[in-house]
Amino acid sequence: MRNELETSHHVAQEALNALKKAGLQASVRNIELFYLHVSNANINLSKAIRTGENTGAALTQSRANELYEKFVAHQDAQDKIFSMIEKFETEAGKIADAVKESGKNSAGCSNALGCLADDLTKTASENPEVARLIDGVTNIVTSIQASNEKLESQLADSSDEISFLRESIETIQKEALTDPLTGVKNRKAFDTSIHRELEFARENDDPLSLVLVDIDFFKRFNDRWGHQTGDQVLRLVAEMMKANVKGRDILSRFGGEEFAIILPSTSRNNSILLADRIRDAVGTRLLKKRRTNENMGNVTLSMGIATLQANDTVETLIERADECLYAAKDRGRNCVISDGDVIPDGAKSVAS
Ligand code: GH3
Ligand code: MG
Ligand code: MG
Repeated sequence: MRNELETSHHVAQEALNALKKAGLQASVRNIELFYLHVSNANINLSKAIRTGENTGAALTQSRANELYEKFVAHQDAQDKIFSMIEKFETEAGKIADAVKESGKNSAGCSNALGCLADDLTKTASENPEVARLIDGVTNIVTSIQASNEKLESQLADSSDEISFLRESIETIQKEALTDPLTGVKNRKAFDTSIHRELEFARENDDPLSLVLVDIDFFKRFNDRWGHQTGDQVLRLVAEMMKANVKGRDILSRFGGEEFAIILPSTSRNNSILLADRIRDAVGTRLLKKRRTNENMGNVTLSMGIATLQANDTVETLIERADECLYAAKDRGRNCVISDGDVIPDGAKSVAS
């Protein structure tokens, strides 16, 4: 116990030293990240950090955040998946054992049958021993059948269990990428998708647009009607957006009362048309309080659109969409601004 305690103090100290050396703050997340790395508790994380060290690249805070997101934040879901896979392997092992057992039984039976056959040829058919031998054969065949039936039922049970496990793994993976309040994709799913879609757009010389959506004066709405009603409105807005996107479009909750829509193969003009359709649908929807039927008026949306340019990275694309979103707020809200519009300098500085 004492040793364990000393080891953990030692590892914590090493983690703090490593943080200091990298010039990173001793925040809870950073300490957790480096504790896992130094103690070798997360092999993939350590591999990623060492690869970075070998290339001589500095470990910046934003890289540390990325590593945390990738290797630490979703560890819970990953642990669940791994324990499911372990169960899966145990089941597969059971099948193999059952097959082996059956193989042994069959081998035993066929040896015994061989001996009986030998005996039969040596013995005259009127010999009373024959009857006993035939009984023996019958018993052996019955035992083979019983063993095969056992194998079959074990296989059926195992395959049911495996299908159940596969479904559970799929559910957990889906949950890890879904926003629990609105049911649309979450920020983690967005981060993965935007990188993938940007690569796809580059490789195929395809347009790609990103729409950032923010509900106007939502704090005021919550204050007036209550947080729970606010939650219902968030769900409704998500539903209305979902109804307007299709195919390869990816709708996700970007955070709080903000959403992002990734529009692969979509030009700036078509993105503006889509964004305006959603803005209009939400902005003209009259909201009524569920229990009292009270009229709550409506909520409006501001949107910023960026369409992929030659030198864009994921970060610059998001930054430009964000700048446009703030310009939309600046212009009085309930409107759509794209990176094809001229954004006044004042609005740009609000965004940065
Ligand atoms: P703006 O037009 O400038 O965007 O004003 P705003 O009030 O929408 O923006 P602000 O950033 O000041 O406030 C965002 C509000 O969104 C505050 C917070 O209560 C609300 N919000 C964020 N997430 C949730 C949520 O999950 N449920 C509810 N009900 N409200 C949320
Ligand atoms: Mg906001
Ligand atoms: Mg808002």
